[in-house]
Amino acid sequence: MFIVSIDEDQCSGCNECTESCPAHLLSFVEDKAQVTGDESECMGCESCTSVCPTGAISIAEM
Ligand code: SF4
Ligand code: SF4
Repeated sequence: MFIVSIDEDQCSGCNECTESCPAHLLSFVEDKAQVTGDESECMGCESCTSVCPTGAISIAEM
């Protein structure tokens, strides 16, 4: 199981990550990316972290 964290202060609002997630777990809300899906569906693919230009997203395996 993976925990997905997005640091709001580091998020520049580029919206790249929401498109990158194959599980559609991320959404763009009020100019910031947020985790809005079921985190238990995260595959830990790191697609979101690889497209994020600011390093705002972190994936941790539990
Ligand atoms: S690691 Fe993969 S499945 Fe998990 S939130 Fe990021 S893009 Fe989505
Ligand atoms: S890719 Fe990074 S900077 Fe861009 S919206 Fe997502 S979390 Fe924010």
